Parts: sequence; structure tokens; C-alpha cells
Amino acid sequence: MPISLPAREPVKAPAATHCPYCALQCGMNVAAGTGGTGAVEITPRLDVPANSGGLCQKGWTAGELLTGGARLTTPLLHGEPVGWDEALDFVADRIRALQAEHGPDGVAVFGGGGLTNEKAYLLGKFARVVLGTSQIDYNGRFCMSSAAAASNRAFGLDRGLPFPITDLAEAGAVLLAGGNMAETMPPFVRHLTEMRRRGGRLVVVDPRLTATARLADLHLQPTPGTDLALALGLLHLAVAEGHVDAAYVAGRTNGFEAVATSVAAWWPERVERVTGVPVAQMRLAVEILGAADRAVILTGRGAEQHAKGTDTVTAFINLALALGLPGRPGSGYGCVTGQGNGQGGREHGQKADQLPGYRKIDDPAAREHVAKVWGIDPAEIPGPGRSAYELLDALGTPSGPRALLLFGSNPVVSAPRAGHVTDRLRSLDLLVVSDLVLSETAALADVVLPTAQWAEEEGTMTNLEGRVLLRRRALDPPPGVRTDLEIIQGLAVRLGDGTGGPRGAGGFPAEARAVFDELRRASAGGTADYSGITYERIAAETGVFWPCPGTGHPGTPRPFLDGFATPDGRANFVPVEHRPPEEDADADYPLYLTTGRVLAHYQSGAQTRRIAALNAVVSEAFVEVHPDLAERLGVSAGQRLRVVSRRGETEGVARVNPAIRADTVFMPFHWAGANLLTNPALDPVSRMPEFKVCAVRLERVG
Ligand code: SF4
Repeated sequence: MPISLPAREPVKAPAATHCPYCALQCGMNVAAGTGGTGAVEITPRLDVPANSGGLCQKGWTAGELLTGGARLTTPLLHGEPVGWDEALDFVADRIRALQAEHGPDGVAVFGGGGLTNEKAYLLGKFARVVLGTSQIDYNGRFCMSSAAAASNRAFGLDRGLPFPITDLAEAGAVLLAGGNMAETMPPFVRHLTEMRRRGGRLVVVDPRLTATARLADLHLQPTPGTDLALALGLLHLAVAEGHVDAAYVAGRTNGFEAVATSVAAWWPERVERVTGVPVAQMRLAVEILGAADRAVILTGRGAEQHAKGTDTVTAFINLALALGLPGRPGSGYGCVTGQGNGQGGREHGQKADQLPGYRKIDDPAAREHVAKVWGIDPAEIPGPGRSAYELLDALGTPSGPRALLLFGSNPVVSAPRAGHVTDRLRSLDLLVVSDLVLSETAALADVVLPTAQWAEEEGTMTNLEGRVLLRRRALDPPPGVRTDLEIIQGLAVRLGDGTGGPRGAGGFPAEARAVFDELRRASAGGTADYSGITYERIAAETGVFWPCPGTGHPGTPRPFLDGFATPDGRANFVPVEHRPPEEDADADYPLYLTTGRVLAHYQSGAQTRRIAALNAVVSEAFVEVHPDLAERLGVSAGQRLRVVSRRGETEGVARVNPAIRADTVFMPFHWAGANLLTNPALDPVSRMPEFKVCAVRLERVG
């Protein structure tokens, strides 16, 4: 139950830490305010290269939730405040009973890309070692998994940016496909503007003329769901117009011929017909990239959140490889990771198919290594489980889990086909949510566990560069609130074997440093090797890049300079083919819906919607439409519109804006509504849902 909190004093002031929100992980100092008000003062750090003194309005206001009245400060059991022992005993008893009836997979775990590395690691271990369940995945599957899958198959390694973010300023050209950093992570933009100040050129691919696209030298505005065709067309032109780096292709890659053959049919006029992007603009984009000594291709969610997201990113990587970019100083391909720990969260075992260190759960050597660290037999580690949407879709079904433990996620708002997901959550025998506020998902839970947040705990986060950063504790959590590590320990003690050994308290320390030391051993020798990283090193060096296999190792800011992480050290071209969206526009649903974020809010909005200054900027969902479409519908700005898809309907205020295509409408997904409409069609490789395009119709309300 939300209550107002007493003023709290800092543990020490100020603490040099990082923003709780996006993957840029801007450095900030946090101190208690003066006057005993309990307010928290935030100032940007100058020593963190990602933001070097900049913050966006989300970061500036992040302290409000530490002291505001929206915090949960006592466990809730069926909506009533209870003590911790009563809450955790209830959860443990119900899990025991449900697993006795339905087996280990009768209980599932769902994590988040905002959890620290320590939490993600301990959650994965808890699921496998204590619950014995294979049913664990996390909301990062909704975020970067297509880029991760494409990078793994091209480079043998998935690290968002395989170079420091400051390298961008050195580039002569940057092509950004499907990212809007001017709204999602504004301090990122300084690296692009510095690049342009030095003479570099920016090309942005986006169906909307976003704030980022307005900064570009060239904006390509394809029909939603056609980025893959566009990338094929760009490579076709690069080949045809002599921009392929033949020496690089011969010396550092495999498979170019097959890809060159596959794009031969994507001549520019055909691509224009499919994408709506004029041939002249495509030629100019290739000319800009081809003429630059150093160039970078970046993808964001706009290219990735599709049922063909892995292939779309692959097509952009193929283009980057043909131009000879990855693994050259100042050049490359990168994915702009979104969630705060989107990178680290996908490395240490909260994914259905993964063990710590970015190891595969079905790899016998990986199982043996991790089992040894965990003190169990490798055969006791369950196999792969369901991916995020498949897991949510199976909840409460005859063959699916009957209980869900959920940490750091709000799928009622953030999952595709959210109405159906909400029904599945309601059908459970037990839903347990650990959160700091009563989110839409927590409001459905049988048990809500109030958890500490970023400035109240220690831990590590890995930002979009693959730089491992230290989150420092600036003040104590409010009385009655526990950390996620303490909650996991409390459950492990109750559900483990009752000893101090690996299945009891001994295997689940609540101190972040102790968990990190174990994570270092578990990750040693893996793709994401953290074994040489310590809290002391991170503090002294303002972050350490993985892989870092040993305390004497300097870390790896640019992992591909000497070779790729493939068996033969060469990057792989992979042929891919365009296909239309899973749900194309038709007579009944004649428009495309695309979703995204606004400057003032973060992800499902569970935190930012509770911050007055951010809510004052945008307080409800809107529907962005082109003036031609508005005229056809007889709608003017400010009127309410109903948006209807095959999965549900929602309403929003019309914003009439020539910056969007006339066949497309845009809705932000920070409020329950947009994802009632979205299509859960999954990418066959990454299992990422098609958030970015579905077919809708608009109706005037009233
Ligand atoms: Fe920086 Fe992202 Fe936080 Fe904004 S939300 S201050 S860009 S880390």
C-alpha cells in the first residue's frame, strides 16, 4: 500500500552512480537535499564518457520516486499489508504445493532488462538450482534479442556497441536504422552532433520524421515493416556502384558471394516500390556511406522489433561488412541497446536458453562449468525453457506454469497482445511481483514484495557499450523495503534444502559484491567473461569493457580489431530475404500502427508516470496521424480517436503531424493501451515479437 515516507539521510553524500533508466547509463551524483526535506539532489557526472555532464529530464527527476508517496513499503498479501515472514512463507508454501502437483516447471520466473547483473545472475541461479524449473525468461527478449541473434551469427559475439560510444564522433558517416535517441536517450545525440560538427554526415531510417531524423543530413522514410527490403536495396547499390571493400571482404569475411547474388534482384526501383523510399535517396545514402573513410551502421528497436527482426539486422550487418566497417577503428556496426541493463541482463542466465557468461544452456561444457560453480551436478540444470511471450502465453494453461515470480517487469503494459497476457496472468494460481510501486501487473498479484531501487543498493550495470559500471548506494531503502537479492535469499532459504550449502542460504548471498564475485567465476571462459572485473577496478577506471578474462587484463573496448569471435576469426555474411509484415494492411484494417517512446517516459511508464514533472509533459497516450489522414477521417488535433486491431482496441488524443507517413499511425507504449493492439508474431530465431507494425483502423470517438 503506498504511504508517504519519512525523510532519510544518505549513507554518504554524494554517491557517484548511474541513472536508473536507459542503457546509456548516464553518470550522476546523488545526494540527500539540504534542509532535512528528504529530497534527493542529482547532478550529472563529468567523468562518464556516455553523457559527460549531460542528463535528460528523466535522469534529472529520477530522485522523486525515492522519496515520493508512490513507493510500496510493506508486503501485500491479497492486497492487505503483512510482514515479510508471512509473505515469504505464503509464497514458499504455495510454490511447494504447486510443484508437488505440477512438477518443477509448474512455477515460472520472469525477469527484466533493468535488473543489475547480480540480480539477473541470482535469479537465473535460483530458478535452476532451487526451483529446478526451465521456465525462466525476461522482458529483454522484447527489446534487443533480434540484434543479439544477428550479431551472434555474424560476429560470434553480441555486444551492443563493439566500440566506445566516443568513437562515433570520429566517423565520417553514421546510418541509424530505427532509433530515436533525441527522445529516448538525448545525451547520446552529442556524439552524433560532434560527428557532424567535424564534417560527418548522418542518415536516419525511420517511418516518422522524429526529433533524431530532423538532425539528419538525409532521412529515409520507409513503410513500416520494409526496413529489410531497404537494407537489401542499399547493399545492391553498394555492389553496383563499386563501394564494396574487396580486400576486407576477402581477408576478414565468409559468404559474400551468396549474399551478393541474393541482393542482385533488389534493384532500386523494386525497392522503391516496396519501401516507398525514392531511388535518389537510396543512392545518396550509399554514396554518403561509401565516401566516408570511417562509417558506422547502427540499428535500434525500429529495425529489430519485427517477426523478421533478426534478418533485418543481418541485412544491415551484411551492408556494413560489404563496406568493410566492423572491426576497423572508428567504424563498425552496433545495436543501440534500450533498457538500463539490456546488455548485462542478456548475459548472465535469466534467458530461457542461457547460462552465465553468455553460455548456451544446452552446451555440455557450459553446464559442467556452471554446475561446478553452483556446487551441483550438471544433470540437475534444467534444459531450455519458453521464450518471454511464449511463456506468458502458456501461463495457467493445462501444460503451462501455474505460478509466476516476476521481478522488474510490467507485462500488463509492455507485452504484445497485452489483453491476452493479462488474462493469462489472472488465470494463475499464484502471481508474485517484486516492484517498488504498484504497477499494473503488481495490482493483479497475490503477493507484492516491495523492493529497493537504484540509489538504495549496490550492483553493476553493463551499458550499451559493453562497459561494466558500478551502481553505488546513496541512501538506505525505506524501512520495510528489501532488496531483490534479499528477497531471492529469503525464498531460497525457505525453498532450498535447509542447509547453509549451495541450495540454501550459502548459495544465495544477499550482498551484491559476494554475488558479483560468484558471477565472475561463473562467467570465466564464457563469451561475456567478467572474471577480471572487480568493483574496485570499475571505480578506478570508470567502467571496464568485457570480455575481461583476468584481473591483469585491460578489458576489451573494441573486441573485433584483430578478428571476430567466430571459430575461424572471420565474420559471416548471411543471405536473407525480405517478406511482408506478419499482418499487412487490408480493407478492414487499412493503416499501419507503429509504437515507440516519448522523451518524458521510460518503458512501461511504471516509474516515470508517477513523477509529476514528467507526467506534466505527457500524461496520456496519443495517436499521431498525418494531416491528410486526419482530413479523410474528419478529425482535428485534440479529438479522441479509437484505434482498433484484430487483438483489441484503445483510445487516445489525436495529434496531427506531417512528420508521419499518411498510411501509418504512431502510439507511445508507456500507457496500457498500445500493446492491446500489437501483434505477438515472433521472429523465428530471436523469438522477439513484432511490436513495430500491425494493421489497425481508426474511429472517431463520439
Ligand atoms: Fe541518461 Fe537515459 Fe537516464 Fe536520460 S534516461 S539521463 S539518457 S541514462
